[in-house]
Amino acid sequence: MTHENLIARRKNVLPNALGTFNNATAVSAKGAIITDTEGRELIDFAGGIGVLNAGHCPPVVVEAIVNQAQKLIHSCFNVAMYAQYIELAELLSELLPHGDHTKVMLTNSGAEAVENAIKIARQATGKTGILCFTGAFHGRSMMAMTLTSKTSNKQGCGPFAPEVYRIDYPNYYKYGGGMGFDNYVNLEIQKLHDFFYYQAEPAHLAAVIIEVVQGEGGFNVVPARYLKALRALCTQHNILLICDEVQSGFGRTGAWGAYEHFGVTPDLSTWAKSMGSGMPIGCLIGKADLMDAAKPGTIGGTYLGNPVCCAASLATLKYMQEIDINKLGVEVGRIVKAKFESMQHKYSCIGDVRGLGAMLAFELVKNNDPHQPDTELCKKIVDLCHKKGLIVINSGAYGNVIRVLSPLTIEPHILHKGLEILDEAINELTT
Ligand code: PLP
Repeated sequence: MTHENLIARRKNVLPNALGTFNNATAVSAKGAIITDTEGRELIDFAGGIGVLNAGHCPPVVVEAIVNQAQKLIHSCFNVAMYAQYIELAELLSELLPHGDHTKVMLTNSGAEAVENAIKIARQATGKTGILCFTGAFHGRSMMAMTLTSKTSNKQGCGPFAPEVYRIDYPNYYKYGGGMGFDNYVNLEIQKLHDFFYYQAEPAHLAAVIIEVVQGEGGFNVVPARYLKALRALCTQHNILLICDEVQSGFGRTGAWGAYEHFGVTPDLSTWAKSMGSGMPIGCLIGKADLMDAAKPGTIGGTYLGNPVCCAASLATLKYMQEIDINKLGVEVGRIVKAKFESMQHKYSCIGDVRGLGAMLAFELVKNNDPHQPDTELCKKIVDLCHKKGLIVINSGAYGNVIRVLSPLTIEPHILHKGLEILDEAINELTT
């Protein structure tokens, strides 16, 4: 089956709106390499959008999936319970404690984890308002899409859910305007306090949902002081802090959760992507008393915590512990950051290099101006990299941010080769 054949058939039978970053295809994959329909080996810097921190098809995960599929594919946990669901919840609560007693609910996706976080926050606090951020991406189900910021991800889909408020995500590179970093953070914290006077009283807010490192928003990292101030305000006013770790979780930033870098613990948190090495599974983790505030009948679903997905996730998490995924995240991050910073010195189109651990990106701008995004160059880089054997994807409100979400198990020589391809592509396109 050729590449062209797939593209033509896709055009005929799938809705045009299903996005593509480029025309890459995949037949099989191992580690950090995808083999396409033409038998070409492509270095994978996308990891299925942050899903493959433990690499493509880790043998222990494949084996766990096969073994589980031979025994029990589905019973529905509500109908006949099985140990894998409980074992996975136990492991997650051990890895990611939210206070003294932590409970876990499994979901099929990140968006579903977000939906349930909002439902539970409202039930637990008896309040309705939800505060979210510019640049946020929380998924494409109706509440998750409401919370998502980028207008092109939402066009024509409204009306959206009521009682959702949005405030600026502190983005120093874009909006610092020559101000010192500390002064900028002070200003953003002031805006947070003012929000309660201008937009919604604390007595009305059930939760704030934040990505500590924004994924689709372009890998913006929240300033530590800002997150601490947000945590303190939430505690003061009985507003729940929800950290969305769907893209940043499971070793990506060099920790199980990005919030761990900031000495802050959320009340609830949402997870998916790398949790199951590609099997559709996510979860909501939270303080036990909050999770228990959910009323019977309001949470659940036919496939939640499907046994095969649970087996894949358990094997993935145990494998991650065995190979010390967080250490790998730090190492991959160190190599990528050094390369990006050296590229920033060489190419004036790279306006900013940012991220946390191995969740790293650079922003392409014209005339060194954060307000002149170079979306076109970004698209050309993505396409040229594909031609040269590297899958890399973009993000950001203007799609002008190149991000790295490679497997963290990537061998150093493959990582270096991928980074060289990226460097070569920018060189060819800009000089
Ligand atoms: N939250 C964040 C931070 C994400 O990056 C994503 C997906 O990219 C989601 C939620 C939605 O997850 P899913 O696509 O599994 O529904």
